Amino acid sequence: VVNRIAAGEVIQRPSSAVKELVENSIDAGASTVSVTVKDGGLKLIQVSDDGHGIRCEDLPILCERHTTSKLSAYEDLQTIKSMGFRGEALASMTYVGHVTVTTITEGQLHGYRVSYRDGVMENDPKPCAAVKGTQVMVSLQLCIVFALLDMYCDFYKKKNLNMQVENLFYNMVARRKTLQNSNDDYPKIVDFISRFAVHHINVNFSCRKHGANRADVHSGSTSSRLDAIRNVYGASVVRDLMEIQVSDENAVDEIFKMDGFISNANYVAKKTTMILFINDRLVDCTSLKRATEFVYSAILPQASKPFIYMSINLPPEHVDVNIHPTKKEVSLLNQERIIEKIKDAIEEKLMNCNNTRIFQTQA
Ligand code: ADP
Ligand code: MG
Repeated sequence: VVNRIAAGEVIQRPSSAVKELVENSIDAGASTVSVTVKDGGLKLIQVSDDGHGIRCEDLPILCERHTTSKLSAYEDLQTIKSMGFRGEALASMTYVGHVTVTTITEGQLHGYRVSYRDGVMENDPKPCAAVKGTQVMVSLQLCIVFALLDMYCDFYKKKNLNMQVENLFYNMVARRKTLQNSNDDYPKIVDFISRFAVHHINVNFSCRKHGANRADVHSGSTSSRLDAIRNVYGASVVRDLMEIQVSDENAVDEIFKMDGFISNANYVAKKTTMILFINDRLVDCTSLKRATEFVYSAILPQASKPFIYMSINLPPEHVDVNIHPTKKEVSLLNQERIIEKIKDAIEEKLMNCNNTRIFQTQA
């Protein structure tokens, strides 16, 4: 039960499983990552990569909780560069679904296939034909978590539970409602892959629905960020982007660098697109997003919502990536100061471009 509840924290929806799997592929040094999804990820998620693969002798423990090849000492956490380090993702998926892994490492004549449930291997790895890398197939059974939930909600209601527990379950009940309503996490999955594709420009990402001929994301691999954005978000977005760079390397107590692209005064959209990577980790930072939106609405009167891609690099010891199992929110040292600097830079860029607004005319 504990394992299932913990798993529900990491794998909140099908799209969180996709994110974890794609991050594993990136950690494995893949240059191609293909995602296939059936029924919004509720039936099947398949992620294939051409990364370094998993050694046969590691397969028996692969899906045990806290199995990771990315961290060996507590101190490593301070300088961690890989996306993963908690060794929870694959394990969690086996507690809320069924996981099958096919993998081959370099120099091997054949690969291995093996399935997992509840953290353990179901059978010995079977030799099989395989191309370079790893393929992970997940069929989630979130209903397992939901059934448990019902049971526990009842139990705790009767017992007059403490607030924290109540909140945890409240979140899960709310989550189930949204999952049942939309029943489709596919747009979210496409969104994740698009974001990864804009940042990891040398990786060829694709994402398609099971059985579809056409991919909904096909990033190609390129050496230019703008090409990557064009391949994923379209030429019309790229036309209205400006490059932006901020660095604070002179400060004694702090070193940070930001590179990115931000939309100019001609860009029109109803919703903000904010693609934020901090030390190569895809994250959300609500305060930075708000600050950015604020600058846009202050400077551009008929404010359209912006398109923002930012890659921020800080000394690893200035970022705490370990505040939540999903590693989605991070906390930064000197966050206010960093946001202020970025805000100033955007303001300056926008002021300049607002003076030279381009109107497209039809000839
Ligand atoms: P973490 O990424 O935090 O280490 P995971 O549960 O996501 O934990 O994965 C467990 C381990 O399985 C990883 O540390 C890695 O060694 C291995 N692994 C998972 N996916 C892949 C992959 N696509 N290619 C190579 N190794 C992988
Ligand atoms: Mg991982």
